[in-house]
Amino acid sequence: MKTTCKVISFEYQTSDIFVFKVKCNENVEYKPGQFFMLSISGITYDNKLKKDLCMPIKRAYSVSSIRNEKYIEFCVKKENEGTVSLALSKLKIGDTINITGPYGKFVLKENKKDIVLLAIGSGITPIMSMLRSIVKNKIYLNKKITLIYGNKEEITYKDEIIKLCKDKINLIFSLTKINKKVTNCQTIFNRITISTLEDLNIDYTNSNIYMCGKLEFIKNLKDSFKEKGISKENINFEIY
Ligand SMILES: Cc1cc2nc3c(=O)[nH]c(=O)nc-3n(C[C@H](O)[C@H](O)[C@H](O)COP(=O)(O)OP(=O)(O)OC[C@H]3O[C@@H](n4cnc5c(N)ncnc54)[C@H](O)[C@@H]3O)c2cc1C
Repeated sequence: MKTTCKVISFEYQTSDIFVFKVKCNENVEYKPGQFFMLSISGITYDNKLKKDLCMPIKRAYSVSSIRNEKYIEFCVKKENEGTVSLALSKLKIGDTINITGPYGKFVLKENKKDIVLLAIGSGITPIMSMLRSIVKNKIYLNKKITLIYGNKEEITYKDEIIKLCKDKINLIFSLTKINKKVTNCQTIFNRITISTLEDLNIDYTNSNIYMCGKLEFIKNLKDSFKEKGISKENINFEIY
């Protein structure tokens, strides 16, 4: 489905990650973890010969909200040399964007396993949608759920994540640029690897694992899980 949406809020979560909400012209259905292709009018591929054939540049962005809300929320990392993320970073309330979708199979599975959520940076976006859905709809809360979220020093969605996880979800922050806790939550000061899970006694062997972030982060963990004999069906990921 393709629709036009109006920006209704915009705020920076950290120095380079911003969150914005849009209201769409039509009712849009999606599952936590899915993404849309976004484009902005005026941000097009150059066609010097036929100006009217300039195609809009589209990029994939996951949804961080859940379906029942009256808006769709996106969370984007501003790439200083990037095309679409930079244009999105300049959005103002009332501006419009175009979306097509939803797409993607990075969604919560309906089996009865424990859940391990692993994210770095803006990779929290689809995980945030899953987390909001788990807590709001009270699903899977009889299972052991762990979230490990890695950042350099600033934590996107910090206060909401702490609130959502309180007493329900085992939450661990990982910080790689500083050596000081920025919350009262359990914090490690290393990159997230399979050793992190083992050191923290997280039983990933009988869990559905969902991870999102840059290629190197996903590849490293995916290879380690494979080496440990974890079945492919239990390893779910989205690469940014
Ligand atoms: C399924 C999916 C979901 C995603 N969801 C999200 C999300 O929720 N949030 C999010 O922030 N991102 C998400 N992404 C990533 C997003 O789609 C974009 O790839 C990202 O925002 C960068 O796009 P851009 O147009 O700003 O940068 P691009 O213009 O594509 O540039 C990408 C990088 O290349 C560099 N670059 C560009 N041109 C040059 C050049 N000529 N020479 C050297 N370097 C150059 C830029 O510095 C930039 O860092 C997702 C990706 C996928 C596949």
